[in-house]
Parts: sequence; C-alpha cells; structure tokens
Amino acid sequence: MASFKAIRIDKAEKGTTTTLAQFDETDLMDGDVTVAVEWSTVNYKDGLAITGKSPVVRRFPMIAGVDFAGTVIDSKHAGWKAGDKVISTGWGLGETHLGAYAEKARVKGDWLVRLPSGMTAREAMAVGTAGFTAMLSVLALEKHGLTPKDGAMIVTGAAGGVGSVAVALLSKLGFHVIASTGRPAEADYLRALGASEIIDRNELSAPGKPLAKERWAGGIHSVGSTTLANLLAMTKYGGAIAACGLAAGMDLPSSVAPFILRGVCLLGIDSVMCPIGPRKAAWERIAKDLDHKKLAEMTTEIGLADVLDVAPKILAGQVRGRTVVKIG
Ligand code: NDP
Repeated sequence: MASFKAIRIDKAEKGTTTTLAQFDETDLMDGDVTVAVEWSTVNYKDGLAITGKSPVVRRFPMIAGVDFAGTVIDSKHAGWKAGDKVISTGWGLGETHLGAYAEKARVKGDWLVRLPSGMTAREAMAVGTAGFTAMLSVLALEKHGLTPKDGAMIVTGAAGGVGSVAVALLSKLGFHVIASTGRPAEADYLRALGASEIIDRNELSAPGKPLAKERWAGGIHSVGSTTLANLLAMTKYGGAIAACGLAAGMDLPSSVAPFILRGVCLLGIDSVMCPIGPRKAAWERIAKDLDHKKLAEMTTEIGLADVLDVAPKILAGQVRGRTVVKIG
C-alpha cells in the first residue's frame, strides 16, 4: 500500500495532537483530481489548526494545510489532465477535507485554479491564501471605486502575511501606503515593500471615539477588534475598509457613526468559499500586479517538519511576511 509523509492532526482526550507521520494513500478522501503537492505555506489558520488553539479542524484524522500548489497526477475531471500545474486554497482544505501538508492531495477539480503563466508553484505558495486574500481586498476596494487620487491606504498587521502582500500590491497600484505594525524593527522591510509611512499599531489599538480625524480613504485590515473600530472612525468620507482578519480579536466595538455620517463602507473579505470566477480573476491580477522581487523579499522557505515550529510563532505575531513549505 502506498503511503506518504503528512502533518496529521488527531483528536486526543484533551484537544488534539499533531505529528509528522506516514499517511496511507487509500485513506485520502473522495475527489476527482489527485495532485502531487510541491509547495504549501503557513497561514494564520494553519497556526490555529496545528496548535489546536481554535477549533478550525472539523474532521479527524486531518491532514493540516489550507493551500497548495502542485502538478496533477490523475484526473477524472474534464477541466484537468495529468501534468497540469494547479493551485488550491480554501474550500475547507485542512479543515473538513484532508489538506496540503502532504506529498499527495485528492480534491474536487472544481476547486482548482490553473497556475498563472509566468508564476512558479513556489511563488504561488509564497502568495498563498494570505496573499490571495490581500488581492481579494484590493479588488473589493477597487470595486468600491477607490483610486490613489482619493487618498492614502492603511494596512494593519503590515509585517504579517496578508499585510506584506497588501503593502506591495497597493504601492504598485500607486497608493500612498500607511503601514501599521507592532514591530518598529521591520520599518525598513516595510519601506522596501512600498510603504510610504509607518505607524505604531498602538496608535490604533486603544478604544477610540465613534468618529476621529479623517486620515485615509481606505484600508486592508487583518487585525479586528478596537483597531478596526478606529480604522473606520478615521476613514475619509465615502471611503472603505476591507476587513479580512482577526489577529487581535473577533470583536468589533464600533458604532454606526462612520457608516451613517461619513458613508464609510466595511467590505467583508472571505477567501475560503470565494466563487471560482473571482478566484481566477484574483490570481490573474496577482500575476500581473505583484512584484516578483518584493515577493521574494517577503518569503522564507522551510521544510515540512519545520511547520510544527512555525505554527505557534505565526499566532504570536512573530513571523514576518510569508513562509513557503517545500513538500514534494
Ligand atoms: P500573520 O500572523 O502573518 O499576520 C498577522 C499580523 O497581525 C502580525 O504579523 C502582526 O503584524 C499583527 N498582529 C498580530 N497580533 C496582533 C495583535 N494582538 N494586535 C494587533 N496586531 C497584531 O497572519 P496572516 O497575515 O496570515 O493572517 C492575518 C489575519 O487574516 C488572520 O486573522 C487570519 O485568520 C486572517 N485571514 C483571513 C482570510 C479570509 O479569508 N478572510 C484569509 C487569510 C487570513 P505587525 O507585527 O506588523 O503588527
């Protein structure tokens, strides 16, 4: 019986256990496309799954990992054939469906996106779910009609995964980017990605007023809680904040004042169940608008076994930029 290496999560008497183990191919779940996984990545949600800090895993045993890039080995799906280069993010991978930290994955062909031309599988996972989410946020802000003429863009959690890609994308599009970070030592890193201003995240984290001085036209926000409330309170008339994360908390202690007095919009961003059309569009835009050199600057490479060490670090806000995982 064929088996392969995988990061496996099992239910324990108290919580869960996570180990690097052999996994039998016959235990892969149903799906019409089997993929040789070449690269994965460490996202915040992977940290939650591996440490068991949040109940994101809803099937046991589980192979962790919410995204991968690789090559199709076998397909019963009309859209894919052996040799095709593919990307998979979300759809419950690593949560309800056996995930990415494994040499093989079997998934639904309908979940897959073709690797854009000019992008390697490693680069696709350097982008990963975090970078894909940053691009979905940019697209939402563009759909709202915001352009560099409207004013600055604030990016919170700027030195993290979503934040780093958001800074690089927004600066490439010509926006004046204000990067909010709790790591002043990363100021040069953020400037190199394209940030024009760096602010200390403590400026935005204390409970604030319903409305404050207007500072930015929009933003990409991965932090939640009082920081999101302050972002909304400081958004210019008619602006918008794309909210995608909760690194500081799930709550939103805000008021309706920014919405009803300044016409500010809160744009919700979900990457997991994002329909296939917008997914393809986002990956095409990533291929076009994300500077390869900046992507390389924000990327650290690790091996499969190292994921277990990086998982708690990403939850502690100690990981800079993006981490790619070499698998196959
Ligand atoms: P990272 O850990 O890489 O980045 C999060 C960043 O947030 C940290 O680097 C840090 O940046 C900042 N941060 C951490 N803790 C705090 C805190 N207590 N208060 C304020 N800022 C804090 O994670 P990702 O970028 O991968 O993910 C970010 C968030 O986005 C997560 O909540 C994740 O679940 C969410 N997400 C949502 C998706 C969706 O589909 N909606 C998809 C992908 C991610 P700094 O040091 O610069 O301050």
